[in-house]
Amino acid sequence: KSKADKKGQFLFYNNSISEQVKRKMNIESELICAIEKHQLSVNYQPQIRVSDEKLVSVEALIRWQHPQLGCIYPDEFISIAEETGIINELGLFVFKKACEDIYALSPNGKEALKLSVNISPVQLLEPDFGPLLLDICHEVGIDPERITLELTENIFIHRLDIVQPLLSKLRQLGFALSLDDFGTGYSSLSYINSLPLTEIKIDRSFINKFLEFYQSDMLVRMIIEIGRLCGLLVVAEGVETKEQFKKLLSYGCHRVQGYYFDRPLTIEKLSEKIILSQPETGSSTYLREE
Ligand code: C2E
Ligand code: MG
Ligand code: MG
Ligand code: MG
Repeated sequence: KSKADKKGQFLFYNNSISEQVKRKMNIESELICAIEKHQLSVNYQPQIRVSDEKLVSVEALIRWQHPQLGCIYPDEFISIAEETGIINELGLFVFKKACEDIYALSPNGKEALKLSVNISPVQLLEPDFGPLLLDICHEVGIDPERITLELTENIFIHRLDIVQPLLSKLRQLGFALSLDDFGTGYSSLSYINSLPLTEIKIDRSFINKFLEFYQSDMLVRMIIEIGRLCGLLVVAEGVETKEQFKKLLSYGCHRVQGYYFDRPLTIEKLSEKIILSQPETGSSTYLREE
């Protein structure tokens, strides 16, 4: 290649890096006022109980609609929010909004809809995090026992002797605890035994290939079996087909979540869905959009 070509490549490479840096800096500064500008919202993805195909719970998922940049997904901005510390404010915003929405939709009681909220390890390490959440629950009127906090395995980057008592405190306040994206990170069998978890969520990357690959199939079966033996609720995320659902049923998975049932919905769409699937209207099982 000629010198000119190489130079061109170098410039192109340089440009794309600086574009990425620019976007990141842009997102970083825009995120600071995204809450005040009402650009953030919360969507809810149904979780279906496998035994009777009932919608029993929802996971709250943050969405950011920026007037110029369009819809920005959490995979891009959560890590930035963690680096800058905005995640604390952002996390409380999601938690409060979700509590309000779900309580308005379904009051406390035995059949009440459950709610899962993703929690960043940064939030977990914030002093008084648990009491802050409890205050919000009291303010809204929602029973904390209806709420599952989803943590990812990267909490184990932090010392287990620090994480363990923090999780125990959250359990004592009534919150259930889920280990999200299970199997992808630092999962060790000793962790699920020594941490006060109530649930594990099998990562989507296993679910989307377990019908084709024996390795993944074996892992999915093993995770479900171990989860059940430890007395944990086992949830599979990213279920996209009927075949996947049937197989998970046969393996004894407790709950499923994924596009086969629903994408994350606005609170209005979720509300419609729930009204339509109420027993009085005659359809007791889950209404799937096909
Ligand atoms: P997650 O907690 O593992 O959430 C599941 C992600 O998988 C969601 O992506 C969801 O839309 C997507 N998903 C669900 N079912 C399917 C399916 O059948 N197929 C496929 N391909 N995808 C499916 P989303 O909403 O983009 O969120 C990505 C991640 O961002 C979440 O992963 C979570 O780690 C994080 N996140 C989202 N909202 C929050 C939040 O409020 N706080 C924190 N700390 N993290 C959040
Ligand atoms: Mg999650
Ligand atoms: Mg997950
Ligand atoms: Mg994930």
